Amino acid sequence: MGVIYCGNCEGKVSDILDRCPHCCHPMTDQGSADLDRPVRIELTSKSIKLVTVTGAIMAVAGAAVAAANWHIDGSEKTKIGVVVAVAGVVVFLGARISAWWGHG
Ligand SMILES: [Zn+2]
Repeated sequence: MGVIYCGNCEGKVSDILDRCPHCCHPMTDQGSADLDRPVRIELTSKSIKLVTVTGAIMAVAGAAVAAANWHIDGSEKTKIGVVVAVAGVVVFLGARISAWWGHG
């Protein structure tokens, strides 16, 4: 805790105040930083949700394609379905891990 000088009226202001008591000039940009931060978290979580949903859809669709063609020996569709399903699971888990990592 200390004393700083107002950039507007040059009066003495305690550094715990966010506004000058003499002229009400804002002393920090904390107010705008606080407004920006939740927006960024919201955008991050939305993109993670989008990736999570994409991964889940890939896993389900890939598994469905593989299951539908499973009886055909050496079917390309079965191989593609398995690859898409595995990729979907990897994408899904990656999104879950990055969400967990981001939230600490
Ligand atoms: Zn002032």
